Amino acid sequence: MPPKNRKVAVMGYRSVGKSSLCIQFVDRQFVDSYDPTIENTFTKKIKVRGQEYGLELVDTAGQDEYSIFPPQYSMDTHGYVLVYSITSEKSFEVVQVLYDKILDMMGKVTVPVVLVGNKTDLHMERVVTAEQGKRLAETWKAVFLETTAKQHEAVSDIFTKVILEMEKADGNISPE
Ligand code: GDP
Ligand code: MG
Repeated sequence: MPPKNRKVAVMGYRSVGKSSLCIQFVDRQFVDSYDPTIENTFTKKIKVRGQEYGLELVDTAGQDEYSIFPPQYSMDTHGYVLVYSITSEKSFEVVQVLYDKILDMMGKVTVPVVLVGNKTDLHMERVVTAEQGKRLAETWKAVFLETTAKQHEAVSDIFTKVILEMEKADGNISPE
């Protein structure tokens, strides 16, 4: 089977770890500081259930609740990773606004989404519970994960999951 090319946008409020997650996935390292204004596209090959994918990851510069949804993020984008930080209530509000904008923009009722609560290593600073994240994802019928950008395994799970969600949306995998 030839590789399938898929484009995924990583979105969320500033400083939640979008770039750190992308870099951990692609380069297997945790970067302590990364220019927050940089917008990058990473590519990585990943194999899921025997199928090779060419994943194009758009690491966006970050949004807030007032951002106009950038049209280039809906153009031929197959799936979304929406990231908040478990240490920021505000970032949890922003993913909810973003989700509504994505649906509006795509003109669909559901879109392949993985909701990520990042920075679990900062448990002393936690303000968003895992239960809150789980409940939000349920209302979206989306996948929910908590991660720390310091650990490769959990981070790569995000991208495996988004691929599976995109395949489900395409009708190639039956929903469980
Ligand atoms: P972005 O603006 O969403 O792209 O956020 P960055 O990836 O630039 O991360 C913002 C800051 O949070 C940086 O100092 C990162 O090192 C830090 N950071 C990102 N992810 C984590 C994490 O899982 N745990 C901790 N402790 N810090 C993180
Ligand atoms: Mg960034």
